[in-house]
Amino acid sequence: MKVLIADDDPGSRLLLAGLLKSKDCEILISDDGDSAMEVLKGNNLPDLIFMDWNMPGMSGVEIISLLRTTQEEYQPYIIMISANDSQEQIIEALSYGADDYITKPMDGHLVNAKYSVAKRIIDIQDKLKQSNEMLEKLAFYDELTGVLNRRAGNASFQVELERCIRKDHNICIAMVDIDHFKAINDTYGHQVGDKVLKEVADILKKTLRPYDVVCRYGGEEFMLIAEINTVAQAKQLLERVREKIADAAIQVDDNQVSVTASFGALVETPKSHLQMSELVKQADKALYQAKEAGRNRVIIVDELPNTGFADVNL
Ligand code: GH3
Ligand code: MG
Ligand code: MG
Repeated sequence: MKVLIADDDPGSRLLLAGLLKSKDCEILISDDGDSAMEVLKGNNLPDLIFMDWNMPGMSGVEIISLLRTTQEEYQPYIIMISANDSQEQIIEALSYGADDYITKPMDGHLVNAKYSVAKRIIDIQDKLKQSNEMLEKLAFYDELTGVLNRRAGNASFQVELERCIRKDHNICIAMVDIDHFKAINDTYGHQVGDKVLKEVADILKKTLRPYDVVCRYGGEEFMLIAEINTVAQAKQLLERVREKIADAAIQVDDNQVSVTASFGALVETPKSHLQMSELVKQADKALYQAKEAGRNRVIIVDELPNTGFADVNL
C-alpha cells in the first residue's frame, strides 16, 4: 500500500512517518499543497493520504474537493488532519470528501487505529476491483471456447462497422455453422461435442487475423467479422477456414472425429451503424442456402442465384 503524508509541519510528518515505518507500506511525503498535487497527477498514486488542512499552496480541503469532483477512477482514502477540533469543521471536511479526521496534536494510538480502518477498507476495495475484472472477463468471453460471446461479438461488430463507415472500407460478415453437429453429440456424447466446438473455435481464431472478430453466436454457430476489400478475398479467406475445419482430425480416445462447417457471408460498404442486424440477417440467409446446397461450402450473398433469393440483395 502507498501512503502520502501531505503536511507542512515537520513534527507531524516525522510522527506519521515514524508510525508508518513498521507497517508494510511505501511512504511518499509532500510539505505543501502544490507538491501534494504533483504527486496526485503522477503515476505513483497513493491509496491512503494523511492530508493537512492548512498548507502553503493548495489547502487540504481544496485538494480533496478537486479529487472527489474530477476523478472517476481514482478515489484514495483520505484522512484529514487539523488543529481545529470544532464539530463544524469536522463536518465540513467530511462533506468535502474526507473519509476520516484526526486532530492535532496527534495521538499515536488513534493514528494506528485509523490506519487499520483505512487498510481494511482499501483491501476490500482491491478485492472488489479484482472480482469485477474477473466478472468482466466472464461477461465478454465464451467459457467453453474462449472466443468472444455473442454480446461482446455484437459490440465489436458495432465498433468495426463505425470504423468502416468512417474510412469508407468494406466489411465482411460471415456466419459459420457446424454441419450435422447433433449427430456428433448423439454418436460420441456431449463431451466430445464440446471438444469439437473448442477445436473449431481454435481454427477460426488461428486462421483469422488477431484484429478480426470471432464470436460464438450460439450453440454450434459462430460469427466472423473481418475488414476485407472484395468478395474474392472473402471467398479465399473463408474457403481456407472451411478447408482447415474439414481437414482437422480431432482425436477422441482411439478415434479421430472430423467435421465440416457451412458458411454464409457478405461483403458490404456499410453506410449506417443501424445496419448490423440487417447484415446478420443476410449472412444467415446465405448460410441457410449453403446448408440447402449440401453443406461444407461457402456462399457469399453476391453469388446467390437470383431465382428465389432476389430479396437477399435488397
Ligand atoms: P445442421 O447441419 O443443419 O446445422 O445440423 P446440426 O445437427 O448441426 O444442427 P442442430 O441445430 O439440429 O443441432 C445443433 C446441436 O448443437 C444441438 C445441440 O444440442 C448442440 N449444442 C449446442 N450447444 C452445444 C454445446 O455447448 N456443447 C455441445 N456438446 N453441443 C451443443
Ligand atoms: Mg449445425
Ligand atoms: Mg445451428
